[in-house]
Order: sequence, then structure tokens, then C-alpha cells
Amino acid sequence: MNYEEAIKSLKKKFPFRELNVELTNICNLRCPLCFTGRGETEEPRGKMDYEKFVLFIDNCSFLFDKVSFIGSGDPGLHP
Ligand code: SF4
Repeated sequence: MNYEEAIKSLKKKFPFRELNVELTNICNLRCPLCFTGRGETEEPRGKMDYEKFVLFIDNCSFLFDKVSFIGSGDPGLHP
């Protein structure tokens, strides 16, 4: 099996199209409809390790058509 065939096989086996990444759960805003904005979450606040994110994207991005930065924080606060 060559590389292209292996990719096709993996995409067929794992039919994910979109990867949703929460870069951080930190946010400076206080939107009233959001549990983060209301301060109602008990999870520790933090940011995803950049080197781990790059490593994951470099090795797994071929499985996805799209990467979205969503979650319970403001991804604009992450470098
Ligand atoms: S995470 Fe989004 S919705 Fe929640 S307080 Fe921040 S900006 Fe508002």
C-alpha cells in the first residue's frame, strides 16, 4: 500500500471531516449566556501547549478537511 492509498484507507476508517480544537479556556469577556463568561466552570484555566499542537497538526491534519478553534475560551488569547 502506498502513501496515498494509506491516507484514503485511514480517512475511510476514521471519517472525521472537522477537527475542533480548544486552544484555551481563558476569556476576558463576560458574555451572560456563557458558563466561562459567568465564571461557572470549575476546570483549571490554561492554554494548549503550542509544541504539542504543532506536533499533532503536523502528524494528523491529513485526516481532516477543516480545523476550527472553538471551545470555552477566546482562541485569540493564545499566541
Ligand atoms: S468564551 Fe466566548 S461566549 Fe464565553 S465569555 Fe468568552 S467570548 Fe463570551
